[in-house]
Amino acid sequence: FVGASIGVVLATPGTTDVDGLVRDADIAMYRAKAGGRGRFMFFEEAMRAVIQARHATDSALHRALEREEFSLDYQPVVDLGSGCICGMEALLRWDEPARGRLWPADFLSSAEDSGLIIPIGSWVLGTALDQTAVWRRCLPNRDLLTMSVNLSGRQLLEPGVVDVVATALAQARLDPRAVCLCLEVTETVLLEDIEAMALRLTALKALGVRLAVDDFGTGYASLNYLQGLPVDILKVDRAFIAGLGVDEKNLAIVQSLINMGRRIGLTVVAEGVENAEQLAVLRQLGCDMAQGFHMARPLPAEKITELLQRDPVW
Ligand code: C2E
Ligand code: MG
Ligand code: MG
Repeated sequence: FVGASIGVVLATPGTTDVDGLVRDADIAMYRAKAGGRGRFMFFEEAMRAVIQARHATDSALHRALEREEFSLDYQPVVDLGSGCICGMEALLRWDEPARGRLWPADFLSSAEDSGLIIPIGSWVLGTALDQTAVWRRCLPNRDLLTMSVNLSGRQLLEPGVVDVVATALAQARLDPRAVCLCLEVTETVLLEDIEAMALRLTALKALGVRLAVDDFGTGYASLNYLQGLPVDILKVDRAFIAGLGVDEKNLAIVQSLINMGRRIGLTVVAEGVENAEQLAVLRQLGCDMAQGFHMARPLPAEKITELLQRDPVW
């Protein structure tokens, strides 16, 4: 079956710049494609600004790795049984010289489309694991600290991903059997091709890493997929946590998600805990772990080292 996406541009009387018209029609066509294919879009001036910003991001991204413009912040994950920090999630930041700090939402889709997410993702893994090794070696009682790293769909589908993870583990000289790495994959990505995902995830698990379903509950999926995938952890999306204490139905949903996860042997982590009330409810519901601004915002490694030394309990 052949489909078509159409971009339309209206020429003003007397227009002679044919190349310009075709370029604008092209921009409108890409917008039509991005809007769900099989549609048409009329070109508008504002589209050009969006495309230009995107081009600026694309070309700056190409140089960002070698210019060392990326960094990682780490957000503590708290064990709700003991109230202590049991792990970290590594979150990517980009200090772009022209525009200042950029967040994953500003550049991840560009990095995915251009394929640059592959080298960037390897850098994230290597950096996060090296940091884990430092914390495990240099701080007392931190030898079991785990590190969570987000993997994009594009990374996961890349055949080399298993080698990349194995190499990063070996280079950080971390023993993969003393589980130190958790890979987080967004629920929607897992649903794209369950069978291919199951094979890839099984190969990753053989390295001794844990696997988490990120943003759980946002994918509008049949829960059946949980049976077919070798996952260990459910991270309940922060949209559900935000509704705790606001809406009774929401409480029931979070309760069900936690019970379901635990009944099938998974560890349940709540994301986006912003106040003491939410934390208390989650604890009462038997949630295993939590992370969020209430406990700690994502912070650079030095600040996390200080925090780990203070060893706060929530
Ligand atoms: P995520 O993996 O679900 O990460 C949690 C996001 O929620 C982070 O946003 C974090 O800063 C934010 N957050 C944490 N606690 C709270 C809270 O209490 N309240 C609120 N409102 N937000 C909270 P961030 O750092 O902007 O990252 C966004 C997403 O980008 C991540 O969502 C993840 O999917 C992706 N991402 C981040 N780093 C990487 C990376 O290195 N590689 C890949 N492929 N994706 C990444
Ligand atoms: Mg995550
Ligand atoms: Mg999430």
